[in-house]
Amino acid sequence: MYAQVLIDRPARSLDRAFTYAIPDALRDRLRVGSYVLVPFGKQSLPGFVTGFTHTAGDYQVKKVYGLLLDEPIFDERLMALAEWLADEYVCSLADALRVLLPPGGSRKPTKVVALTERGRHPGAPQELQRAPRQRDVLQLAQELGPECDADRLLVGLRRLDPKTTQTSLDSALSSLQERGFLEVRRELQRPAVQPLERQVVTLVEDDRDWEELLEELQGRAPRQAEVIAALLAAGDGTAAVAEFSRPAVQGLVQKGYVTVSLEALDREPERHDWQDAGAEFLRLNEAQRRVYEAAREGVEARQHRELLVHGVTGSGKTEVYLHCVDLALRQGRTAIVAVPEIALTPQMVGRFRARFGRQLALLHSALGQGERFDEWYRAQRGEARIVIGARSALFAPLRDVGVIVVDEAHENAYKQEQPPRYHGVAAARQRARLEEAVLLLGSATPTVELYWEAQQRALGSVGQAASPARAGEAARPTADTGVVQCTPDALRLMELPRRIDDRPMPDIRVLDLRSETLVGTGQTFSQRLLDAIADRLRVGEQVMLFLNRRGFSTFIICRDCGYVLRCPDCEISLTFHYHGHSCTCHHCDYARHVPEECPECGSKDIGFHGLGTEKVADQVIRTFPEAAVARMDRDTIAHKGAYGRILGDFAAGKANVLVGTQMIAKGHDFPGVTLVGVLNADTGLHRPDFRAAEHTFQVLTQVAGRAGRADKPGEVLVQTYNPDHHAVVTASRHDYQGFYQRELAARERPGFPPFVRLTRLVFAAEDDEVCRAQAGEVKQTLLDMGMADKHGPLCLVGPARAPLQKLRGRYRWGILLKSREQPLPDLVRELLGRVSLKREVAMSIDMDPTDMM
Ligand code: ADP
Ligand code: ZN
Ligand code: ZN
Repeated sequence: MYAQVLIDRPARSLDRAFTYAIPDALRDRLRVGSYVLVPFGKQSLPGFVTGFTHTAGDYQVKKVYGLLLDEPIFDERLMALAEWLADEYVCSLADALRVLLPPGGSRKPTKVVALTERGRHPGAPQELQRAPRQRDVLQLAQELGPECDADRLLVGLRRLDPKTTQTSLDSALSSLQERGFLEVRRELQRPAVQPLERQVVTLVEDDRDWEELLEELQGRAPRQAEVIAALLAAGDGTAAVAEFSRPAVQGLVQKGYVTVSLEALDREPERHDWQDAGAEFLRLNEAQRRVYEAAREGVEARQHRELLVHGVTGSGKTEVYLHCVDLALRQGRTAIVAVPEIALTPQMVGRFRARFGRQLALLHSALGQGERFDEWYRAQRGEARIVIGARSALFAPLRDVGVIVVDEAHENAYKQEQPPRYHGVAAARQRARLEEAVLLLGSATPTVELYWEAQQRALGSVGQAASPARAGEAARPTADTGVVQCTPDALRLMELPRRIDDRPMPDIRVLDLRSETLVGTGQTFSQRLLDAIADRLRVGEQVMLFLNRRGFSTFIICRDCGYVLRCPDCEISLTFHYHGHSCTCHHCDYARHVPEECPECGSKDIGFHGLGTEKVADQVIRTFPEAAVARMDRDTIAHKGAYGRILGDFAAGKANVLVGTQMIAKGHDFPGVTLVGVLNADTGLHRPDFRAAEHTFQVLTQVAGRAGRADKPGEVLVQTYNPDHHAVVTASRHDYQGFYQRELAARERPGFPPFVRLTRLVFAAEDDEVCRAQAGEVKQTLLDMGMADKHGPLCLVGPARAPLQKLRGRYRWGILLKSREQPLPDLVRELLGRVSLKREVAMSIDMDPTDMM
């Protein structure tokens, strides 16, 4: 038997399996899904075992070096999922398989030397008198124990003989291996997990009169006295060393009054105690129960089902997820819960942890590498049966998944922007299909695409109406009897139209900035919003203020010549940050100091315009002395744990105004919030993206949903220059249907999803002209392949400059492919076979793109 190994490197030329012989020691351990180290040319590279074969061809095959991970990382199902990814998103299989690797992939392979029984025999080194190097190596290995790291051997040997080289060690090891004294295998290093601990100082146990000592010290050594006083005051006579002067503590240790020791700190993945994270399952109301029953049918029958759970904010979606996950566990199966960004959902994680405890594994980008690795392994070994995390959780190494939840399924965060450029919702659907699992896609504002698909099913017209662009994934019509029947796996719409206990939806009022009086230095607030904030603060309630732009001022302009400060690499205007007094590019993080004078004309009259969250917070502080303001945006949550702390403080009432970007719009539940202010609803409305209105509707609905979640009614004030825009109007009326109808109509004629499927090709190069020319050539090839220009069922649009014309120093051009029927992956594969790209141009392929910039 030979193993087929796919090399784990992105190069396209490597996108096929290579054949390797299997050493005896690995015969029983190598399986499909094993992650191995193999010789490749002059290098040793990691690879995935994708299969086995009896024939090796006529050439000399090399042997697999060893296993990099003990257990296989995928089985046939996950392999099928990776193959689907590679097909669907036109990437190499190695790119696709990489999503299945445990987190923290940058671990180094190390060589482990394991002594055989023969090698462990105390007399073994004597057998090697004629090979002194080998004898020394074996002797040293025996001293280091039955298994040791080859690096430690090298260090030891150099102590005996400083001239020892890696090569001489390697050759000794391979001779020893051939003679049966030891085995050498390669492993990926486990990420170093540093135990979390702190130094504590403790009073010695002793029936000394401490008060007397204290008095005595107060005269001679006041700092030592402080320590003793603090320890006497602490109930258990213990305190952290860090709180005191170190020489004082050392002095006391020398005198024998105290001891210093290490105390282990608990390292449960970050948790914050949310008072209402109850451990009890709540009794579902009728609408919730309908969703649950639909899921139960599927799970019990082991049938793939897809439910689109359209529930308004606060309608109890999360409670339904909890019940469905529990259902999967009771059936002996496992569950995956995907959230857009795990760091932003401490409350949700808290609720899951309260119900399921250690059965839950958290895949969290803010955890240290060691912790993430631990969590992944707990899932792989079956110790954790629920995985909760961002989109990568959809590839978690769980077996027999019964329920998959994708919360806030409309969020763009589910799209991965590097290869494989998959969409989490599509991946979840495919995994659910392969696992015969029930999928719940939850959202208060489903995408027009998903809602349309579910509607088609509800209307019974799947397959007949305007050829569903995602026909492959949608329902298949079985209406041969005239009675509309749908296959059970079609996306089914479940509505949760009301909040729990019929709490009212917040009252949303639109303030037309064209006629409102604006006040404040930055013309930030309308008088009405300002009054409303003052009212709420007066009665001790909380306020959230939302603006989707961070920083202080969003552009910096010379008042004399009009020069605008731009990023040299991306050509977009720089944002001024008061904290740090710098101007930064929000695309590439380029930063510079604020210039004293205009780089163009030398004038000193530099102006700062445009509003960011930092300035909003600043203005609230200036206007309301009684306000305790917290701010949450990318800048304030840079530190690990900052996010949870800000939310925790706000929940605990330590702050009464929370200013933030759309981070504050996520599903947090703050009972004290009765007013939500949207400072400018227009920030995203005019982006060159056909989903601009949809995003505006979604984010307005989400932020508005933060108001009045407890007993007190909530109010939302939305400032805008576009009060008549349909996204603003429908959001303010909680009218999803109205929005959906408008939006659907707007997309049909120009041909956007759901009526077509899109593929976006983006070309990037340092030379603008080279880039444009390459895009032009690709267009010609596509036309030769039969695509139409601009109109028709299979057409292309462009090439055109990307809205973000230049990014990180490279010019960008784009071509958009649209297809009403034919799936695009095949076409793109054909294209790749036909064109040869210039080396200096990078072309990215984005199937079903969400990023249109
Ligand atoms: P969503 O996820 O749709 O925003 P949640 O599940 O967070 O909604 O529910 C909103 C609030 O209502 C939460 O405080 C939750 O504990 C409570 N809740 C949910 N379902 C029920 C129920 N069946 N009975 C009582 N309270 C519920
Ligand atoms: Zn100027
Ligand atoms: Zn930039």
